[in-house]
Amino acid sequence: MPSGRDIGAGRRGGGTTKKNAFCSFCRKSYRDVGPLVEGPGDVYICGECIELCQSILEQERRRRGTSKQLFTKIPTPREIVTHLDEYVIGQDHAKKVLAVAVHSHYKRLMLGAEGGDIEIEKSNILLLGPTGCGKTLLAKTLAKILNVPFAIGDATTLTEAGYVGEDVENLLLKLLHAADFDLEAAQRGVLYIDEIDKIGKTSQNVSITRDVSGEGVQQALLKMLEGTMANVPPQGGRKHPEQQYIQMDTSNILFICGGTFVGIDKIISKRLGKRTIGFGQESGQQATQEMKTLLPQVTSDDVLEFGLIPELVGRLPVISSLAPLDADALVQVLTEPKNALVKQYQRLFSMENADLQFTDEGLQAIARRAQEKDTGARGLRSIIEEVMLDIMFDLPERGPGNRYVITKDFIEGRKLKLPIVEPKNKSA
Ligand code: ADP
Repeated sequence: MPSGRDIGAGRRGGGTTKKNAFCSFCRKSYRDVGPLVEGPGDVYICGECIELCQSILEQERRRRGTSKQLFTKIPTPREIVTHLDEYVIGQDHAKKVLAVAVHSHYKRLMLGAEGGDIEIEKSNILLLGPTGCGKTLLAKTLAKILNVPFAIGDATTLTEAGYVGEDVENLLLKLLHAADFDLEAAQRGVLYIDEIDKIGKTSQNVSITRDVSGEGVQQALLKMLEGTMANVPPQGGRKHPEQQYIQMDTSNILFICGGTFVGIDKIISKRLGKRTIGFGQESGQQATQEMKTLLPQVTSDDVLEFGLIPELVGRLPVISSLAPLDADALVQVLTEPKNALVKQYQRLFSMENADLQFTDEGLQAIARRAQEKDTGARGLRSIIEEVMLDIMFDLPERGPGNRYVITKDFIEGRKLKLPIVEPKNKSA
């Protein structure tokens, strides 16, 4: 027993040792649990209970700590857009919509404890747009700005409980993983569910008795989106009866659903009474232009007609569309974001004490090739990787002090097998 501290039954109260004292919390005797700390009146606490209290307080502190970090300062929608601009090219409308929705969502969380009679409802978000136009990137960047756990799930992997595939709860598990199993943080995270359009009611369903991946999954998602106590299997996989579950409250998770909704342009143009141009029949540029004008006019009715069940559409009150990226936007994607591909390669070259430059035509040639692939900005990386492979292979052996210029001819691979290489100190 350390001397000089008020430990030991009765010490505090003037030295009389009360041999029959017991802990007021766990009711164990002084003889069983050792020294007790005495409070005013006949109150004692034992070491074990002190430890327990400490851990409770610690947990609470941690919990408050995270929420403090989250909520002492919620960025304004404008600040959120400014941050998004650093990473995402264009898509101004989607940025604005997301910023407002996220800002309100976190305000709502802040209000949560105080209650009040006006309950602000959650606004989950639906993002529509072609592949590789920045849907996931927007959600990811948002989560980074807000400093909350973020996970990406894919709706196509989901099936109803009892079928081969994943249960909806596994999406929540991903979020829990992202939060390092800090339940409290995960319950305030952002979950991006991709390919939400792929679970639409399909007419090609072959199962007569039950619809394995369509409406049933939508129903399961519904509950999650709305806010429920979900039973998350900590090991993932399928649920089984003997398993222990982690109870996760989804009511404060912000869900962002994304999908390409291929063909929704036709639904929109039909509604608007416009002439329909067949999807995929027009030239790439025409199609891009067509989508660019039609998509922003999407409404929840169009999404309904596309095949999402009304309840699900109702849980996704914020709808925004992202425009396909044209060649100029793709060049911007290559060069402008904070971690743009070109910047990444330049950094790699500078580590070898070499310079890397892309001519404007070179960048445009890369953008054109990406457009041909029809995977939006997603194709850019693989094109650059392919183009740069030989140079990267030789780079360390070529020695420092060179400047590499990537031109259109080099990209198109016609005239040059190698980029222009010149001494670094030569003026550009
Ligand atoms: P999707 O819309 O299919 O979810 P992603 O957001 O996953 O597409 O985009 C794939 C990649 O393409 C991103 O990681 C990013 O590097 C790039 N990208 C796509 N759109 C943009 C954009 N608007 N601005 C900057 N980069 C983009």
